[in-house]
Amino acid sequence: MDGAGIDEVGQGTLTTHLVGRLSAALWIGTGVLVVLAGAVLSFRTGFSRPGMIGSGLACLAIGAVVYRMPWARWRRSATLWLVPVALGMITLYNGFTGEDAFLYGTFFLVVFVWLGIGHPRWTCLRFAPLLALSYALPLFEIDSARRAMALSSALFVVPCCVLVGESVAWVGGLLRKSESAIFEAEARFRSAFEDAPIGMGLATPDGHLVRVNRAYADILGYHPDELVGRAIKDITHPDDWEANAAQFDALVAGDIDRYHMEKRYHHADGRVVWVTVSTSCVRDDGGRPLYLIGQIEDVTERREMRERLAHAAVHDQLTGLPNRVLFMDRLELALSRAQREHHCVALMFLDLDRFKLINDSLGHEMGDRLLERVAQRLGGALRSVDTLARFGGDEFTVLCEVSDKSEALEIALRLVQAMQQPLNLADSELFVSVSVGVALSLDGLESGTELLRKADVAMYRAKEIGPSRIEVYRTDDETGTIRRLRTSNELHRALERDELEVFYQPVVDLHTETMVGMEALVRWHHPTRGLLLPGEFIGLAEDSGLIVPLGAWVLREACRQGARWDALRTAAGENPGLLNISVNVSAQQLADPTFPRQVASALTESGLDPDKLWLEITESTLMSTGDASVAALAALRGLGAHLEIDDFGTGYSSLSYLKRLPVETLKVDQSFVDELDCDADDVAIVRAIVGLGDSLGLAIVAEGVERRAQAVALMALGCSIAQGYLFGYPQPASALEPYPADDLSSWTLASRIRTSA
Ligand code: C2E
Ligand code: MG
Ligand code: MG
Repeated sequence: MDGAGIDEVGQGTLTTHLVGRLSAALWIGTGVLVVLAGAVLSFRTGFSRPGMIGSGLACLAIGAVVYRMPWARWRRSATLWLVPVALGMITLYNGFTGEDAFLYGTFFLVVFVWLGIGHPRWTCLRFAPLLALSYALPLFEIDSARRAMALSSALFVVPCCVLVGESVAWVGGLLRKSESAIFEAEARFRSAFEDAPIGMGLATPDGHLVRVNRAYADILGYHPDELVGRAIKDITHPDDWEANAAQFDALVAGDIDRYHMEKRYHHADGRVVWVTVSTSCVRDDGGRPLYLIGQIEDVTERREMRERLAHAAVHDQLTGLPNRVLFMDRLELALSRAQREHHCVALMFLDLDRFKLINDSLGHEMGDRLLERVAQRLGGALRSVDTLARFGGDEFTVLCEVSDKSEALEIALRLVQAMQQPLNLADSELFVSVSVGVALSLDGLESGTELLRKADVAMYRAKEIGPSRIEVYRTDDETGTIRRLRTSNELHRALERDELEVFYQPVVDLHTETMVGMEALVRWHHPTRGLLLPGEFIGLAEDSGLIVPLGAWVLREACRQGARWDALRTAAGENPGLLNISVNVSAQQLADPTFPRQVASALTESGLDPDKLWLEITESTLMSTGDASVAALAALRGLGAHLEIDDFGTGYSSLSYLKRLPVETLKVDQSFVDELDCDADDVAIVRAIVGLGDSLGLAIVAEGVERRAQAVALMALGCSIAQGYLFGYPQPASALEPYPADDLSSWTLASRIRTSA
C-alpha cells in the first residue's frame, strides 16, 4: 500500500461514490434504452410512441440530476422525493398512452433497483403501496378484459420490484458495513500515527519517505510535507549510513523481521540529532515488501548526558586529562601490545617541586589555575600518541610507547625543559619545576600497577636528589632511605586524604567476659599497598615528626567515636559507664607542650567524659622523656583523663620512678603473656608484675591473650582484665555499629570471619 492508496481509503467515500455513479448509470442507461426502443418501435410499426420517447428522456433527465447530486455530503433519504416523482411520471404517461403495462413494469423495476442501491433496507417495502397505486390507476382507463390481465400482472410486478429492490439494498448494506469497518480502522491508524508522541514514518522499500507524523518532523526540524519524498540516506549522518543501509536491506530482503539501532540524523538547522530507530516491514499477501514503518525517538540529550558521565568517570575534572582509571586501562593495553610487537613501554611519574608551597601561598584557586597551565604545558611537550594523565594533586603520569630507553629519556627531558619556562599566572611569572621518575618495561611482562609503582619509587629518588631531576627506576630503590622517604611523603598525604582509620579492640573483664573498654588502634588504607598496620608506619611517623598530627587526629577521632557510642548506649538504656577508650600516646606527643591542651580540646569538642579517656604511654617513652614527662602526665591527669603504662616489662623502669607518676594501670606486654600457659618464667614475671601492681595500688591489664589457657592462667595469677584476639580482633567503627555490645557479640562474629578467612 503506498501513500496514495491510504489517502483514498482514508477518506472513506468509496461506496458513496459508487452509489452515485450506479444510480446515475441506471437512470441514464434506462433512458437511452427506452428512447432507442421508442424510436425503433415508431419506425418499425409506423405508429409513433411519443410517450415512450418522452419517458426515456425523463429517465435521462433524472440520471443527469442524480449524477450531479453531492452524494458524499447528502443524506441519502434526501433523494427520496425522486421516487414519487418518477412513479407519478410513469403513471401519467401510462394514463395518457394506455400502452403495455409490462413495459411500464420495467420502469418500476428501474425505480426500485435505484431505491435499493441508494437507500437502506425496507425503503422499497415502504414504497410498495405507492408503486401498486401508480401501477393500478391507469388500468381503470382500459377495457375490462385487458384490465383483468393487467391487474394480474401487477400481482407479479409489484412484489418482484420490491424483492429486487430489497435484495439490492441488502447487498449495498453489506458493502457499506465493510467499508465503514475499513474506514474506522483507517481513522484509528491515522490518529495513532499523526498524534503519536513518538516520531513515526513510512518509507518505500527503496528508502524514500512517503509519510511522517508531526513528532518525526519536529525531531528533524522540518514540516511533515518537507520530508515526504526525501531519501532517508540524505537526512542520515554519512558515518551511520553504511550500518543503517545494511540493516535496511536485510529487512527488505526478509532476512530480519525488524531492526533497532541508534543513529544520527541531520537536523534542519545543521546540528546532529541522535535517535533510536525501530523499523519493521509491511508485506503484501505474496510476501513482497509494501512499505517500511519506522519509529524514531530523540535521544540526543540522554546520549550527551551518558557521554558526559562516561567522560567524567575517566577524566580529571580540573584539567580534562585522563584520570587514573583511564590511564591504567591504556597502560595495560600498551603492555599487551608491547608483548606482541616487542617494543618498550615507558611510564613516567611526574611530581611538581614545591607545589605545596605555591598552593599554600597563592591559595587553592590559583593552585588550580596553575595545575591547568602545567597540564597544557606538559601536553604540548608530548607526541600525540603519548598519554598524559593527572593522578591527583600535583602528580601527573605519562605513558609512551618507545623503541628504547634513550627515546624515553628524551621525552622526559622535553617535559622537564618545558617546565623550565616561566608560567604566566595572574600577572606574575611562576617557575614550577618537575621531578620525573621513569620505569621501563622492555617486554611488556610487568603488570601496569607494578610499572606504576616503580615509576613512583624512581620519582621519589628524583625528588630526593633535587628539582628538575629525571631518575630511572633501579632495584636498589626498593630498600633503604628512598622507601622510607616515600612512605613518609605518602603518610603526609594520607592525613590530608583521609586514608587513616581508627580500629577498636575490646578490653575485657576475664571473670564476666564482658567489655570494660576499648583500645583505639590506627590503620592506614594505603592506595596501592592495601591496609597497613601501625608497625609499618608509626616508626616513620615518629622519625618525620608526623606522629604529632597523626596522634592528634587519632585522639580526636577516638574521643568523637567514644562520645557518640556513649550517647547511643545511653539512649538504648545500656550502661555507658563501662565504655572506656584507650588512646596510644607517643614520646613526641608527650614532649609537645601543647599536648594537654590538645587533649582538653578533643574532650570538649567531642563531649566525652574525661573519666572515660585512658592515655597509654609505653614504658620506653616514659624512660626516654624522663622528668619532662612527669609534669605533662600531671597536667593530663589534672584534666580528668587516666594514664596507663603500655608494654610494661620491656622498659626497665625503676620502681621509685613509677611511684612518682600519676599512673593507675600497668599493661603487661604481650611477650610475657605469649607462653603464660606453658612457660614457668613468664608465669613468674606476670606474678611479679601483679604483685607490684597490688603494692603500688595499680590495676593490671594483660595484652595479647589468644588462647583460653592464657586467660585461665591470668585469672589464677590475680589478673582479671585482658585484651587479645581471644576476645576480638581490632575492628573499624563501622563493623561495630550501632555501638559495641558489652557481651562482645560485636566482635565474635568479626573474629570468626577473620579466623576462617
Ligand atoms: P599496643 O598499644 O601495645 O597495641 C596492642 C597491639 O597488639 C595491637 O597491634 C593489637 O592489634 C595487637 N594485639 C591485640 N591482641 C593481640 C593478640 O591476641 N595477639 C597478638 N599477637 N597481637 C595482639 P597494632 O594495632 O598493630 O598496634 C601496634 C602498636 O602500634 C600498638 O601497640 C601501639 O604501640 C602502636 N599504635 C597503634 N595505634 C597507635 C596510635 O594511634 N598512636 C601511637 N602513638 N601508637 C599507636
Ligand atoms: Mg596500646
Ligand atoms: Mg602494648
